[in-house]
Amino acid sequence: MPYDYDLFVIGGGSAGVRCARIAAGHGARVAIAEERFWGGTCVNVGCVPKKIMVNAAEYGTWIEDAPAFGWEVTKGPHDWAKLARVRDAEVQRLSGLYRGMLENAGCTVFECRASFVDAHTLQVGESRVTAERIVIATGGRPVRPDIPGGELGLISDDVFTMHALPRRIAIVGAGYIAVEFAGIYHGLGAEVDLVYRADLPLRGFDQDLRAGLRDAYEAQGIRLHPGQQPTAIERHGEGFVLRTQQGEEIETDCVLFATGREPNIHGLGLDAAGVCCTEAGAVIVDDNHATTQPHIFAIGDVTDRLNLTPMATAVGHALADTLFGGNPRRASYQNVPTAVFSTPPIATVGLTEADAAAQGPCDIYLARFTPMRHTISRRPRRTLMKLVVCQRTRKVLGAHMLGEDAPEIMQGIGIAVVMGATKEDFDRTIGIHPTAAEEFVTLRTRVREVGLPEKAAAAE
Ligand code: FAD
Ligand code: NDP
Repeated sequence: MPYDYDLFVIGGGSAGVRCARIAAGHGARVAIAEERFWGGTCVNVGCVPKKIMVNAAEYGTWIEDAPAFGWEVTKGPHDWAKLARVRDAEVQRLSGLYRGMLENAGCTVFECRASFVDAHTLQVGESRVTAERIVIATGGRPVRPDIPGGELGLISDDVFTMHALPRRIAIVGAGYIAVEFAGIYHGLGAEVDLVYRADLPLRGFDQDLRAGLRDAYEAQGIRLHPGQQPTAIERHGEGFVLRTQQGEEIETDCVLFATGREPNIHGLGLDAAGVCCTEAGAVIVDDNHATTQPHIFAIGDVTDRLNLTPMATAVGHALADTLFGGNPRRASYQNVPTAVFSTPPIATVGLTEADAAAQGPCDIYLARFTPMRHTISRRPRRTLMKLVVCQRTRKVLGAHMLGEDAPEIMQGIGIAVVMGATKEDFDRTIGIHPTAAEEFVTLRTRVREVGLPEKAAAAE
């Protein structure tokens, strides 16, 4: 039976757009549907507008530090409306580029919702279309805890339509979004309460980074509330009170939930297509990103694997090359570098110390120092750099950094780790001076050994 399209992509975010336009470039007849905004989460309510706000917050600290270097400047008030204007204009520009790229590649573009009628048929707005292969790239959406008054809290999407900087904000959670927005709001002048249930922020990250970020945020005056499980939000005059199970009552002007995201499968008609999901709603895929229906694929956040834009685009690209480019390949989920745009930022690639130690004996190299800029500015910002090295192979299994420029530095370190560089490869690389980055090639002192059999046995 002839189909209307060789490929239909549901969702015009990072994963879907890349897959659609590469497939079209390989000569496939491709259509794509997007119901909300071209470029998806990353461009519209994620990485891009967030990073602009991180930059805005950082400028405030540079203005404060400039007099130490001889500049006669004083910090005036921040113009939220102006920031919102320039941010939104950039988002519009990029979103338009995404749509343009699809059209230039020859994709048929639908600006509406798509859902399954059966395994090869989709309802796309008012039309019914068929496709030989279908890609689900519908992303994720923020989760709001089900607590009394939960509807009074904001989610990350709402940050980008806020009309003014709140005087006080309580942020619930301590993952990527929570710590990034804590830095943004604090940097722009709000009083920030960060309320989280673990003992340290950023579960899953290396313990030294987690403790380092806690210290950095405490030193800046961000009010940390570890070990707190929110139970209710109540209106209190013009503002709110956030109550926790542990008995804290946090008065604030606004509550932001940054409590994770869930796969966006609502109303997609996956049952009609015979596509199965996990209990948490993630579309189940094999190593080739095929779902339980071999001609239907799922990519990006809807599979809830590594929910990062470059991962989504890499997987979308590899799938298009595999299906239509005569180049079967997979994007690797190993050693994916990642950054948290906290202030200061965190960046990491490879294994944490704890995960590496669980695999065998490792040497830990670590440095904490005040970067040159802050020996002059006197801002209490420390940098932390760490390498986790396998004792047997000498390979660098993990690299971790907290400090200015960490994301920019870690991209290059990531290449070395992906290539399997050893500690000796790092050591024979000449540093670039004077930089913070050079510390990664001059870490000489092993601060501890971990994962030794006798230590593991003693700990049991
Ligand atoms: P999405 O980008 O969410 O795209 C899915 C698209 O599908 C959406 O546009 C949606 O409207 C559309 N859609 C859904 N259902 C349908 C339907 N039935 N029919 C038609 N269209 C549909 N990652 C990083 O790497 N770096 C960062 O700095 C970073 N910052 C972030 C900050 C925030 C606040 C958030 C929320 C996320 C951030 N991320 C970041 C994560 C990143 O945005 C996601 O991993 C990435 O956008 C996933 O791409 P995707 O294509 O899978 O999904
Ligand atoms: P995360 O999964 O990173 O963090 C969720 C946080 O909410 C955790 O601290 C978690 O606590 C807490 N939490 C979850 N449920 C509850 C609850 N019911 N009550 C109280 N606390 C709760 O999610 P985010 O929303 O921060 O971000 C979503 C994803 O988006 C990220 O994981 C990442 O993949 C991506 N992203 C990437 C960015 C980047 O690359 N820079 C930036 C922003 C987002 P606990 O740890 O105890 O479970």
